[in-house]
Amino acid sequence: MNLNVNEIFYSLQGEGGRQGEASIFIRLTKCNLKCNFCDTDFAEGTDMSPEQILSVIQQFPCRWILWTGGEPTLQLTDNILLFFKKRGFLQAIESNGHKKLSTCLDYTVVSPKGNLGYARKINPQVSEIRLAIRKGDSIPAVQTLPEAKSYFLSPIFTENKIATKENIDYCVEQIKRRPEWRLSLQIHKLTGIK
Ligand code: SF4
Repeated sequence: MNLNVNEIFYSLQGEGGRQGEASIFIRLTKCNLKCNFCDTDFAEGTDMSPEQILSVIQQFPCRWILWTGGEPTLQLTDNILLFFKKRGFLQAIESNGHKKLSTCLDYTVVSPKGNLGYARKINPQVSEIRLAIRKGDSIPAVQTLPEAKSYFLSPIFTENKIATKENIDYCVEQIKRRPEWRLSLQIHKLTGIK
């Protein structure tokens, strides 16, 4: 039950409901989608057993693992999640929600992509919904999405600062009209931390 791992690093969660919390990021390779705004390089990886991953992450004082990608559900199994749970780790995931999320997870973030109708059918309840938004994107009714504790609009950060600002301003305006949404800024990009 090896995982193909793109990178492991220790940092702060930069966005969403756990923003600012220390986390061990484990980025897995592979994704089932090809979003045109994808800003993550997850192609290359190394096969690692859970024991090998454990030997790397034990050096960190933090108990939170954040499984990310790519799309981490393509590789994660309950057995792997239970391996880390039994060793005292809490586990969060960032997923596009195309696969059912395991009940072994402690915090679930779904960022539905494309035609969003699938998300609620596959995962009726999650911890957090986070939508990547560009100026002009339509904002769905939260009732059409999985039931969540928090609903976030995350303006897409681009290389072009003007476009980024337009995306932020657009999200702010949308949230003022529809306050069931909250703003999530990618503070790791604003602060320059990994
Ligand atoms: S689902 Fe996420 S990781 Fe996959 S292509 Fe889209 S933005 Fe990138």
